[in-house]
Amino acid sequence: MAKVIIIEETTKNPITLMGQRAGVCWGANIEDAEKNYKRGLDCIISGHHRVMEYVNVEMILDGYSARVIREWYTHIGGAPTRLQASTRYIKYEDFKYVLPHTVEKNLEAKAVYEETMKTIAESAAKLENEFGIPREDAAMLLPLGMETKIVDKRNLRNLIEMSHQRMCTRAFWEYRELMRDLCNALKEYSEEWAYLVDHYFMPKCDVNGYCTEKKSCGRRPKKED
Ligand SMILES: Cc1cc2nc3c(=O)[nH]c(=O)nc-3n(C[C@H](O)[C@H](O)[C@H](O)COP(=O)(O)OP(=O)(O)OC[C@H]3O[C@@H](n4cnc5c(N)ncnc54)[C@H](O)[C@@H]3O)c2cc1C
Repeated sequence: MAKVIIIEETTKNPITLMGQRAGVCWGANIEDAEKNYKRGLDCIISGHHRVMEYVNVEMILDGYSARVIREWYTHIGGAPTRLQASTRYIKYEDFKYVLPHTVEKNLEAKAVYEETMKTIAESAAKLENEFGIPREDAAMLLPLGMETKIVDKRNLRNLIEMSHQRMCTRAFWEYRELMRDLCNALKEYSEEWAYLVDHYFMPKCDVNGYCTEKKSCGRRPKKED
């Protein structure tokens, strides 16, 4: 099962840290954790979101498809970084892949899907073992649905921006599930994270009060309505 693992280098008390950083510029007492917390909260409520860039998040995303990770990589605000599992060291015979819910529910579709994955695995192995094709070339056959693993590092502001796009009903279903897993993992990490997720991680229609998508899901009215 796919999972998000929050690494210990992630800021444990993000609101307090934001207040501490802002306090430096205001000549405030930054030794007082309670005051830092209150100042951090004031900053984000007032919309001074630059402070969010001091909050570090490091995590492992494990078992999501290469396809959803490709979408994850489009969120470049604040210059995040990451490492991704190599496709050179995969054992083709048993590479894992994501099974979409729609396919899983349809037995005939499931058989076609699984058979295709099996053929890819067998063909890749054949290219390498029978024809001496280098592994990096045989790996070109690997599908976007294959599972991958990344170690990711970015800031709070980037993740909040991401939530606005990717918690939208129009976003790819696997990305929405990944956002759900991410929110849960962060909420478990600390109380301050639970507050931030509950108040700032939301689809853009909740931020705007109306839907900006051309094809709306109807969760919120369109602006012109
Ligand atoms: C329904 C849906 C369909 C999509 N379809 C596609 C698709 O077909 N193809 C595709 O490639 N993507 C697609 N996307 C992804 C989307 O268009 C963005 O690429 C993705 O959301 C990341 O970009 P971002 O600006 O939201 O986030 P970030 O890159 O993290 O940026 C966050 C914010 O930072 C600021 N910022 C970031 N970079 C700069 C910069 N260089 N200069 C100034 N300000 C900056 C902006 O204010 C931006 O809003 C889709 C997304 C959705 C939800």
